[in-house]
Amino acid sequence: MTGHDSRRRRTDRTEKFGAREESGIVRCDACPILCRIKPGKLGACDRYANENGVLVRTDPLVLTQRALDAGAPMVPFAGETGDDWDGRALASDRTFITGIGSGTTYPDYKPAPFIVAAEYEGVDTVTVVSEGIFSYCGVKVKIDTDRYLGPECATIRVQGEPVGHVTTAEYGSQMLAIGGVNQLTGGTRKAGRVTCETLLALCNREAVELAIDDGSTVVTQAGRAPVVNGVEEQRMRAGCGSATVGMFAQQWHGHVDEVIVVDDHITGVLTEHQAGVCLDMPRAGIRVRGRKSTPGRYFQVANPGTGWGGTDITEPLTMIRSIDPEVAWPGMRVLLTTTTGEDSLWCILDEDRRTLLPAPIPEPVQAVVERIGENCEPSLCSVLFMAGAGGSLRAGVTENPILLTDSIKSAATRVTMGGAPVYIWPGGGITILVDVTRLPANAFGYVPTPAIVAPIEFTVPVADYEALGGHLGHAIALSEVLVETGGEADVRGWHAENPWPWKPVGQR
Ligand code: SF4
Repeated sequence: MTGHDSRRRRTDRTEKFGAREESGIVRCDACPILCRIKPGKLGACDRYANENGVLVRTDPLVLTQRALDAGAPMVPFAGETGDDWDGRALASDRTFITGIGSGTTYPDYKPAPFIVAAEYEGVDTVTVVSEGIFSYCGVKVKIDTDRYLGPECATIRVQGEPVGHVTTAEYGSQMLAIGGVNQLTGGTRKAGRVTCETLLALCNREAVELAIDDGSTVVTQAGRAPVVNGVEEQRMRAGCGSATVGMFAQQWHGHVDEVIVVDDHITGVLTEHQAGVCLDMPRAGIRVRGRKSTPGRYFQVANPGTGWGGTDITEPLTMIRSIDPEVAWPGMRVLLTTTTGEDSLWCILDEDRRTLLPAPIPEPVQAVVERIGENCEPSLCSVLFMAGAGGSLRAGVTENPILLTDSIKSAATRVTMGGAPVYIWPGGGITILVDVTRLPANAFGYVPTPAIVAPIEFTVPVADYEALGGHLGHAIALSEVLVETGGEADVRGWHAENPWPWKPVGQR
């Protein structure tokens, strides 16, 4: 066993993964590139090397371990295959073998690199472990911000190369789609390479600066706040303008005569809104710009931008189209704010009944503005890896791939990536989504085809595995994994939020 800094696994994987040629050259067949690697050299992806005529995987196999007792330290595996081993170090109640560093068999009709049998809570179970090579893959990125990132369908670029596009705006977030097979394979060689590099960095939780055509630049990193045009985003809005009016109307009542909550999509106007009607608030006679949707809800009050509420407004009073002097009254108290409470303006209507005059905001109203901010969650970037695992990868698991697909659909087989739970899309195929922050660090790799390499594990009761034509003859005991790897493995702590994969589906 080696520690986290282990660089070479010295186990001879040549029999399983490659072929020896003349002059000490080893041919790696872990992907379609089929590198011929000279002694002492690395393959094109740096993941395999020729060490004295032996093909080695340059990163160690990653095992994850959970503490059985709250607060108990992890127990290292080092030496535990020796005389002092109590036999529990690799027990299935605390150790899970991930696909990270396991290698890939290609073509996939060969059994997967590790097929591990273990008993968990009285059920004989098998986990099939591999590093999948995903040509059909990408990431869906959710950026928590109401600032304008760019028009939908706009191209996203890295190093000037197209890597994806802006998709829909969601509730307080903007969605980006990066990668995908067309982006990886359909453009120039350089565009495919840069797309692959971008995916790899995002999946491994590195920061990447994305430039959106006719929009903003966004420094994106999974689990971190986005940086939009050089400014780190702080708050994800409490709701749209209409929702914000609805949430806080009661608290404003008695302290204000009108509230306008500015929002790029739905701006709310309190006294017209049903919330104001229910509170018997008299109309204030203020008409905002934009298209009226329903009472107190306005669309398109301004252009999208990085000003107030995701609009291009920097002078908030410009959003007011008119004030009806027959309805409004001198001294009328008006609050303009945003859905995050980051911007606000308090005004009093002048004697002319047409001019709003800015004034210091009263404490009770300021408290509600601060309450809006309190209801904002921290702004984050979320990166979900999406890929198709319904192809030849299945043949490493079973002789009859459709049976694996059916088994996953019927929930008999649990799919994980680096131990992280995955969401399987309904419909055909095995289309997976996984939160990259739930995998161990640096779980992803690449090959220059170009494609992303990601760990994948299929866990299934032995009886079901046999029924789906699994390669049971290649199964080894969990305790034999270290023997297979020459005693080398990288031990990581278990992600506490992940369900334990050995548990039958439906249990945590
Ligand atoms: S690119 Fe990597 S995985 Fe593919 S053949 Fe070369 S060394 Fe092997």
